Amino acid sequence: MVHIPLAQYEKLKQETTGKAEIIAVSKLRPNEQVLAWYDQGIRDFAENRLSGLQSRSGLPDDIRWHFIGHLQRNKVRQTLPYIDVLSSLDSVPLALLLQKECARSGRVLPVLAEFHLARSDTAKSGLPAEEALPFFELLFTLPALSPQGIMVMGPHTDDTDAVRQVFAEGAALYRNLQAHFGKERIRVLSMGMSDDYRIALACGANQIRIGSLLFDDSES
Ligand SMILES: *Cc1c(COP(=O)(O)O)cnc(C)c1O
Repeated sequence: MVHIPLAQYEKLKQETTGKAEIIAVSKLRPNEQVLAWYDQGIRDFAENRLSGLQSRSGLPDDIRWHFIGHLQRNKVRQTLPYIDVLSSLDSVPLALLLQKECARSGRVLPVLAEFHLARSDTAKSGLPAEEALPFFELLFTLPALSPQGIMVMGPHTDDTDAVRQVFAEGAALYRNLQAHFGKERIRVLSMGMSDDYRIALACGANQIRIGSLLFDDSES
């Protein structure tokens, strides 16, 4: 039997019910674990690399795969067949290429725009908040993309005030986009991971992306 921390998941469900959806970030963990969570009712999983998606053959095909890593343009054509949602759309050239490739295969791809609001973390990808309005204006002209909202990563730090500040900025950006484009069109605020999801929920996140809390073997 593969071990999954069911008690932790029950707690997580209680904390998020009616508030936020949980995306299970499987990141190259064994298919048996993915399947065990599938059996618990999870249908949304995420990977941040093409190799993580390619190792998933044989899993139920009603799983929705979210791509949460930086998507290089030279990997777009290879990656698209595996994914149902792109949560990390972070540039105009990538949006234009996705439009072209999705139109070519006759599909519409749900996307989240990723914003980089954590000033201390220089290495992360994501758009600056200042570009949000023109970026979404562009996205809404691309018929093969279906923009759903935004994704924001918290800074890598134990300083909860710093994390809270970034998530509060994410929530403000989200509300600003809703005010411009409508709440029906901007409806996903994806913020929060295993270590910081409680802060994200308090700031109004309605999607959290949880990896280690669900997949790390807490019994060993
Ligand atoms: C890995 C990852 C997560 C999950 O992180 P955990 O700390 O394992 O919960 C969420 N979002 C992104 C973009 C990630 O790369």
